[in-house]
Amino acid sequence: MLRRFKADLHIHTCLSPCAGLDMTPRNILKKADELGLDIIAITDHNSAENVLPTMRIESDILVLPGMEITTSEEAHVIAIFPETEALMQLQERVYSSLPKTSDQRLLYEQVIVNEFDEVEGFNEKVLISATDLDAEELIDLIHTLGGLAIASHVDREVFSILTQLGFIPESLDFDALELSFRTPMDRADMLYGEYRRYPWITSSDAHHLEDIARGRIELIIKKPSFEELRLALKGADGRGLVV
Ligand SMILES: [Zn+2]
Ligand SMILES: [Zn+2]
Repeated sequence: MLRRFKADLHIHTCLSPCAGLDMTPRNILKKADELGLDIIAITDHNSAENVLPTMRIESDILVLPGMEITTSEEAHVIAIFPETEALMQLQERVYSSLPKTSDQRLLYEQVIVNEFDEVEGFNEKVLISATDLDAEELIDLIHTLGGLAIASHVDREVFSILTQLGFIPESLDFDALELSFRTPMDRADMLYGEYRRYPWITSSDAHHLEDIARGRIELIIKKPSFEELRLALKGADGRGLVV
């Protein structure tokens, strides 16, 4: 039987340098629970080191492993995987093209924690820099590893595939386009209607606890799982999503 489940598929933790330090796994899950979310994805910039700690916490919420990668064109792309092994492979590839930081202040803003919200260390890479993967290479790699590739916040004025390329080439095989909560759907239809060939989702892109679920979708699926999300994006067998 198909039911509706609430999902916010773009949430940063304290590992992302621009996110609040209180964006810890336990705080995020507590907030997501209060807001009635069923599924979240953890998507830090160019790193996934706080994903496993979040998944280890016992919760009714399904935590999907993810990452928000910066392509060589400086466009943000969300990757979501069914399991962490593929995500770690992507992380290894992403890390190979990121410089180390010499900025102590930045270092202390990239906090790696454990499932008890205790500080385990700091990420030494410059996580906000661009990788050497262009959008097409990155999407191919995500798909090869079994994941979903979503164009981040296409309505934002920075770091979106639209601002960086001016348009979305047919060759980019995104599984969905993400809009922020800032653009009402009728306006989005006017601005981006030509890209209806992709499914559209909205997510919060939360960097602070109060932003979680400000953008979210309702998935019409059998149960919260990665496979059901994938089928919902395809509209398979009556599944779908409500933005
Ligand atoms: Zn982004
Ligand atoms: Zn983001």
